[in-house]
Amino acid sequence: MQLPFLSLEPQHAPLRAELTAAFTRVHDSYWYVLGEEVRQFELEYAAWNQVPYAVGLANGLDALVLALRALNVGPGDEVIVPSNTYIATWLAVTQVGATLVPVEPDPATSNLDPAAVAAAITPRTRAIIPVHLYGQACCMPAIMALAAQYGLYVVEDNAQAHGAAFDGQLTGSFGHLNATSFYPGKNLGALGDAGALTTASEALARRVQVLRNYGSAQKYHNEEIGYNSRLDELQAALLRVKLPHLATWTVQRQQLAAWYHQHLSGIDGLRLPQTASGATHVYHLYVVHHSRRGALQQHLAAQGIGTLVHYPVPPYRQPAYQGLQLPASGFPIAEELAATCLSLPLWPGMTEEQVAAVAAAIRAFRA
Ligand SMILES: *Cc1c(COP(=O)(O)O)cnc(C)c1O
Repeated sequence: MQLPFLSLEPQHAPLRAELTAAFTRVHDSYWYVLGEEVRQFELEYAAWNQVPYAVGLANGLDALVLALRALNVGPGDEVIVPSNTYIATWLAVTQVGATLVPVEPDPATSNLDPAAVAAAITPRTRAIIPVHLYGQACCMPAIMALAAQYGLYVVEDNAQAHGAAFDGQLTGSFGHLNATSFYPGKNLGALGDAGALTTASEALARRVQVLRNYGSAQKYHNEEIGYNSRLDELQAALLRVKLPHLATWTVQRQQLAAWYHQHLSGIDGLRLPQTASGATHVYHLYVVHHSRRGALQQHLAAQGIGTLVHYPVPPYRQPAYQGLQLPASGFPIAEELAATCLSLPLWPGMTEEQVAAVAAAIRAFRA
């Protein structure tokens, strides 16, 4: 058996004619940056995410950076982030000159724990960045209540969770400005780099439109120190082809996860993903935990089954962050999760037979 960790072929091959038609349309427009395709995609994505505004950007990291800039978060401000997130969440805080305050997740869901957030709030706290890790919505009502109580901004990192919800409300619609990524492997992926911010605030949407375009609303008039972080016309046109299929792909991901749950139940030493009450999970990743993760991963690789680890080295242990002197002993939950997590193959187009084969291989693993 050969089962890759991820294949985009089942998503893209049936859309090949439509994707190439979109490319041709952009080619023939002779207008490649900030035109009709980006404008239309922003309207369509905002409608899909049930928010008034979406602003297309170059990638997800820039979306986080521009969100913090638009909210005037900078030097002297503390920003609460998960200890166990992808490094992009941390990089954004560092890039605006603010101070990282990492907090431990709920070990059951790997998502931000509102009680840990509350305990980390100080008079210098300005913002919280909840990350809907692996595709599961964080407990946003509790996080928004804390933000309201202490006058803080919330910037959701929605890069992995397009279409997830908490108590029926979509992720990307809770915070003041919410970042997402359309990196090719994400649940909604471009054919290159792309990202966006979503917001209910017209003023914040406008500020981000200025920041992404050299700090300029009017050509050759620069109001502030901006960036070049525009979603380009080609990626916008390709995303417009894919967006109408996102809901179907999400249902497929959830079906695959249900099959995994079924076929993997009752295996000694294997912990399956758990969804918190009130949350939905769109399974960007299907992450299991095993105390002998490395050996299990090798066992699966030997049978042609691709897996990955998200993430093997938490941000506080990256060489880039050694200057912060955050000892690993301060983050026992993140340490444990990083040492035991394993992401199994899950992508639209996979079959129940393939899920069953992965499960059988895991069942045959003798630690
Ligand atoms: C992918 C990702 C990002 C960054 O997105 P890019 O488009 O790759 O810059 C940020 N946060 C999380 C949680 C991600 O998974």
